[in-house]
Amino acid sequence: MIKDELKILEELLGEDYHENIPMKRHTTFKTGGNADIFICPQTTEALAESIKILSGSDYAFYIIGNGSNIIVPDSGIRGVVVSTKGLREITQNGNTLTVGAGVINAEAARFAENASLGGMEFLSGIPGTIGGAAVMNAGAYGHETKDIITKVTYVTKKGEIKEIAASEVGYGYRTSLFTKSDHVVVSAEFGLYEKDKEEISAYTKDLNQRRRDKQPLNYPSAGSVFKRPEGYFAGKLIEDSGLKGYRIGGAMVSEKHAGFIINYDNATSDDILNLIKHVQDVVYEKFGVMLEREIKILGSM
Ligand SMILES: Cc1cc2nc3c(=O)[nH]c(=O)nc-3n(C[C@H](O)[C@H](O)[C@H](O)COP(=O)(O)OP(=O)(O)OC[C@H]3O[C@@H](n4cnc5c(N)ncnc54)[C@H](O)[C@@H]3O)c2cc1C
Repeated sequence: MIKDELKILEELLGEDYHENIPMKRHTTFKTGGNADIFICPQTTEALAESIKILSGSDYAFYIIGNGSNIIVPDSGIRGVVVSTKGLREITQNGNTLTVGAGVINAEAARFAENASLGGMEFLSGIPGTIGGAAVMNAGAYGHETKDIITKVTYVTKKGEIKEIAASEVGYGYRTSLFTKSDHVVVSAEFGLYEKDKEEISAYTKDLNQRRRDKQPLNYPSAGSVFKRPEGYFAGKLIEDSGLKGYRIGGAMVSEKHAGFIINYDNATSDDILNLIKHVQDVVYEKFGVMLEREIKILGSM
C-alpha cells in the first residue's frame, strides 16, 4: 500500500523525487539527520497532487521552505519532506506582486526594488522563503509580512487549491491560520507602492548593515530562538542570566546576540535542543519568565 503511493509520487515527480537526503543541507542550522523521501514539486498542480497522494497514505509528511526556522532531529525524518522551493514564479501587475512560495525573500525584495516598488525592503534580510514569511508573519525593524500581504493561495490536505484574503488569515506575532493548520502556502500577493529605486536600495542596505552589526551572521543559526516575551526581550533576559557564550557540545549562545544560538563547531540538533532547554531553565529560575521557542522542530523526536 505505502510502496504503491510512493511509487505514484515518484512517477508523478520524476527527478524531483529523492530518497535518503541529508537534511543538514536544507536547514540554516546545518544539522539534522536524513529524510527518507524529499520531494520538490515544480508547479502548484504537482504540489497539490503530491499532497493529495500523501494525505491518502500512511506516510507522515512535512513542509519546508528554506529551513531557516526549523530544527530537524539527528535521527532524521521518517516520512516525506515536501520542499516548496520549486515554486519560483514572480509576476507583476502594477503595484501588485504575486510571488511563488519557494522564492527566497531577498530575491522577491530585489525584484520589487528593480520594479521601483517599496514596502518589501525589510524582508530582504530574513533568510526564508515567501511561503515561510506568509506562514510565520515574518517581520523585522518595525515591519511585518501582514503589512504588505494582500492574498494567499494555498493547497488543502485534499489537494484543493484555494485563495484567502490576507485580512482573513488572522495574522499575529509569528502566527497565522497557517501555523495552526495543514494547509500549504503556494503563493502570496503583495500590495506595494511606487518608490524611488535609489531610496529602496539605500534603505535595504541600511537594514542589512544593522543586521550585520548585531547578528552572528557568519555562523549557521535559525535566527532568534525564542519569541519576544510580553514586556521583555529574550536576548536581554538570556544575557542577564550570564549565558552569553554558554556552550553545549558544538552549540553556543551567541556572544554577539544572546537571542541567537549558533552552530559554533559541528553541533548536532541534540546539542541545540539541550542548549535551548538549559537557557529556558536558567532564565525561568532567575526571572520567572518561561521563554517560548520560536523555531519549530520538524518531524518527531
Ligand atoms: C540569520 C537569521 C535571521 C533571521 N531573522 C529573522 C527576522 O528578522 N524576522 C523573522 O521573522 N524571522 C527571522 N528569521 C527566521 C526565519 O528566517 C523566518 O521565520 C522565515 O520566515 C522562515 O521561512 P522558511 O522558508 O525558512 O521556513 P522553514 O524554516 O522552512 O519553515 C518554518 C515553518 O513554516 C512551515 N512552512 C514553511 N513554508 C511553508 C509553506 N509554504 N506552507 C506551509 N507551511 C510552511 C514549516 O513547516 C515550518 O513549520 C531569521 C533566521 C535566520 C537564520
